[in-house]
Amino acid sequence: VAIEVNTATANYPVLVGKNCLNTEEATIKAQLSGYSKVLFITDENVAAHYAHVMVTLTEGLDQTVPVYITPAGEAAKTFSVYEKVMTHLIQQGLDRKSVIVAFGGGAVGDLAGFVAASFMRGIDFIQMPTTILAHDSAVGGKTAINHPLGKNLVGAFHQPVAVYYDTALLETLPERQMRSGFAELIKHGLIADNVLLEKVMTQYPTMASLYKNDMTTYLEEGIQIKANIVAVDEKEQGIRAYLNFGHTFGHAIEAAGNFSRWFHGEAIMVGMKFALLLSEEVTGLQFERERWESWSKTLGYDLSVPDDLTFEELFTSMLHDKKTTYQAIHFVLLNKIGEPSIHVVEKEILQRVFEKMK
Ligand code: NAD
Ligand code: ZN
Repeated sequence: VAIEVNTATANYPVLVGKNCLNTEEATIKAQLSGYSKVLFITDENVAAHYAHVMVTLTEGLDQTVPVYITPAGEAAKTFSVYEKVMTHLIQQGLDRKSVIVAFGGGAVGDLAGFVAASFMRGIDFIQMPTTILAHDSAVGGKTAINHPLGKNLVGAFHQPVAVYYDTALLETLPERQMRSGFAELIKHGLIADNVLLEKVMTQYPTMASLYKNDMTTYLEEGIQIKANIVAVDEKEQGIRAYLNFGHTFGHAIEAAGNFSRWFHGEAIMVGMKFALLLSEEVTGLQFERERWESWSKTLGYDLSVPDDLTFEELFTSMLHDKKTTYQAIHFVLLNKIGEPSIHVVEKEILQRVFEKMK
């Protein structure tokens, strides 16, 4: 199934499906053969599992240059890796008519996308995401590497020419990565509609079910939401902000743990519990939160805030969040499941709800 992403600068298809890299092999090869050189960028974990997939996709293509393998995770998004990849591109003779294929999670996609954005002032690139989280990062054209002083501080907008998302590749995700990425699907359920949420809760009662039951339709839905937003306007305030449900408190938790103690989605789950409690206070949300919490715990999420994190520390962090304007913290809350709204919430209320998290 293909989703069309149309932005002011580019139009491209996003293909999502179990084994789509097999079924679309001929199409992909035809597309790649139109370029002067083809370079795959991946990381060491993904290469260990899927070198054969990259080999198949490039078999018989004499434009192919040796794959560049980065260190796994955030270690791919550094200036030093960026420079090494650039050296590889130059040595392998890539030019303006060449293409880069990002084969990996969000980290590989961000790095490879930024390399493509900046090599010779921009060459084409294709996204082949391999994580759940990358259903978000592979669409929209944001690319970046990290600076020692902050995440994603150096980057560019650069849309891919195509996205091929083979959900069969998710089967090898380590459990913690699987759980972390799945949090974004839970978020879609909470902000989109109760039927979707119930479906997600019924179809995924255990960790094992995340590996067994195909997520294609849910990931597609998430991508469609993102595609709609990108089409309207990058700076859109409405639905785009809704995607930040759970992220205000969640980012503060993530930052407090130096971006290593919690994985992104693990922190977002804590943030969503906070946003649900806050909604009960502010909008009068009626929701079987306890049932949701015990389901989450069965999946292995830890929704608690450890005692060493103080309210003041997290509050300051939320104030500094880049989405904060005029010193007021905007929260995405739920009037009911599937009906988000944006609220400025007073510090006293935040503190009261924070105590309930303990
Ligand atoms: P990641 O790319 O670091 O991948 C997570 C881990 O899983 C890595 O160790 C990786 O080697 C491994 N892995 C990847 N695919 C695998 C597979 N199929 N089987 C086994 N192991 C696999 O992390 P991520 O969660 O995909 O992405 C996080 C990154 O995405 C962050 O850097 C974040 O800043 C970025 N991001 C970007 C955007 C955007 O719009 N550009 C949006 C959200 C997040
Ligand atoms: Zn997120």
